[in-house]
Amino acid sequence: MKIAVLPGDGIGTEIVAEAVKVLNVLGLKFEMEQALVGGAAYEAHGHPLPDSTLKLAKEADAVLFGAVGDWKYDKLDRPLRPEQAILGLRKNLGLFANFRPAICYEQLVGASSLKPELIAGLDILIIRELTGDIYFGQPRGRRVATDGHFPGAEEAFDTMRYSKPEIERIAHVAFQAARKRSKKVTSVDKANVLETFQFWKDVVTEVHAQYPDVELQHMYVDNAAMQLVKAPKAFDVVVTGNMFGDILSDEASMLTGSIGMLPSASLNTKNQGLYEPSHGSAPDIAGKGVANPLATILSAAMMLRFSLNQPDAADRIEAAVKKVLTQGLRTPDIYSEGTTRVGTREMGEAVVKALG
Ligand code: NAD
Repeated sequence: MKIAVLPGDGIGTEIVAEAVKVLNVLGLKFEMEQALVGGAAYEAHGHPLPDSTLKLAKEADAVLFGAVGDWKYDKLDRPLRPEQAILGLRKNLGLFANFRPAICYEQLVGASSLKPELIAGLDILIIRELTGDIYFGQPRGRRVATDGHFPGAEEAFDTMRYSKPEIERIAHVAFQAARKRSKKVTSVDKANVLETFQFWKDVVTEVHAQYPDVELQHMYVDNAAMQLVKAPKAFDVVVTGNMFGDILSDEASMLTGSIGMLPSASLNTKNQGLYEPSHGSAPDIAGKGVANPLATILSAAMMLRFSLNQPDAADRIEAAVKKVLTQGLRTPDIYSEGTTRVGTREMGEAVVKALG
């Protein structure tokens, strides 16, 4: 089992170091190789995703990724910005299915801005299509308008598009994931306004015929955004396109109180995957030793389950995380009165200890 370890920038290096410690004590044999990515790779090699890093990622069974980015790179040309490394990895590895669980641990119910009764026991899974939609559709660019409300004015445009196979494969992923959970899928679209999402709805409905045991519900994205804060527990698996998924998965992550707790996985058709916390590089707290490493440690658990076929080891990590929370250990982002404030390293070491 080969794991490419790409810590990246900011808190990425601090949190990945803790996840690696956890992986090292499981008693499993991994080959782990580390490489630069993002701003760190730009500084060293002049590119956020150097060929050597991409080669390592392609050869590995899984990629454990920290985070990339820093405000100081915001003025670089877009292809050289750290965030482009993630897009490059998704594209080159064909990572089309993004899994973002939003789980509210009972010990952290108080950390959410929603009422405890709305989120206690919350466990939903947002599945976002990752390689299509308006984020990648061509043509795109800037030009002088020849029609519309202001002919002759400068304008910018993007193209929203989905092909049938793209929708079919993500729909299959969602229905299969639902079979392992409570057999309920909500497909989120904007079929009332967008041709692309009327097509999405039609194709998801067609694929659903192969999964009669799974309940399918369609919901417009604006309503989904409301329902997520009104009655989040009514959802189980949510499947949607790239842009709506980007926004809704961040909204869902906040239901749980801390982005520092939420893992994510992006998979291709061969179950090769990139595993990363849902948050960014947090330049505001980088180097201070206070970042919460649990999202990254839980991402490593997802990696063991989905790409490395080690479900027992994944269960062990998840149980260890629950144990440290029950012990009352908290990084500052999830701290509340009566609990014990710890730093990144102490939290990682507590998980290692809890593994027994
Ligand atoms: P962010 O997720 O880095 O930070 C948002 C807030 O959450 C900050 O206050 C931060 O301190 C806090 N936070 C994030 N992770 C935390 C953790 N593990 N523990 C405790 N607190 C945590 O988002 P941002 O500030 O909008 O972006 C910062 C940089 O990260 C930007 O350059 C952005 O482009 C990049 N980014 C990268 C990724 C990625 O690598 N996948 C994702 C999002 C943003």
